[in-house]
Amino acid sequence: MVEDASAIRRRGLMLVLSSPSGAGKSTIARNLLESDPSLELSVSVTTRPRRASEIDGVHYHFVSRREFERLRDSDALLEWAEVHGNFYGTPREPAESAMAAGRDMLFDIDWQGAVQLNEKMRADIVSVFILPPSMHELKSRLKRRAEDSDATIETRLKNARIEIEHWREYDYVVINEDLDRAFAAVRAIAIAERLRRDRRPGLFDFVSGLLAEQPV
Ligand code: ADP
Ligand code: 5GP
Repeated sequence: MVEDASAIRRRGLMLVLSSPSGAGKSTIARNLLESDPSLELSVSVTTRPRRASEIDGVHYHFVSRREFERLRDSDALLEWAEVHGNFYGTPREPAESAMAAGRDMLFDIDWQGAVQLNEKMRADIVSVFILPPSMHELKSRLKRRAEDSDATIETRLKNARIEIEHWREYDYVVINEDLDRAFAAVRAIAIAERLRRDRRPGLFDFVSGLLAEQPV
């Protein structure tokens, strides 16, 4: 008997989403997580103050600068970076456990984090850069989100140009004009990448079983 085709063993993938602040990557990430229960979010640690809409332990682990430095110096972070004047980092243990168990993980991290993950685990990474349709729209989205002060929005707009310059380092680039279409594009990328032959060691057994079947 051939095993259930949907249960063929495969390696987990690390789906990295980056974009300038306000382009919509958290919204796309949220939609992906809702549509796909097998995808797990890597919850970063940050020294940034919590926004009113955020929950500690769900959106981020909010920590002091001192605690961040302790984690970083004890090698508990897979990657880390300073972004817009705050520190952000990916906890090592949850990401390594997910990979070891063949589960897929989503990383909402900046280009500096993507560079570090690419250096460490290139074969497991699928990276997607989200672009806004225009700088004007980027500014409107940051203002409409209404969760950051004017000064913070100005810093993020200035930094947007630096982030955008790294678009070439990503496997895929999606322009988030219409949210439904951008979300469908990222979802299609995840579905296709899961089907890659080199991520599916279980195919060897599946195909052997197929060939061992008696012809009907
Ligand atoms: P990021 O995580 O990249 O900083 P967010 O996901 O927080 O950005 O999105 C910024 C704001 O733009 C939010 O208010 C979000 O609802 C809105 N937004 C996201 N995508 C679109 C879109 N395609 N069209 C209009 N507004 C959008
Ligand atoms: P925000 O403050 O808007 O939540 O995030 C600011 C930026 O930091 C975004 O570009 C986001 O992707 C990035 N970021 C969030 N967590 C991490 C992380 O763990 N590592 C890195 N390198 N960047 C992160």
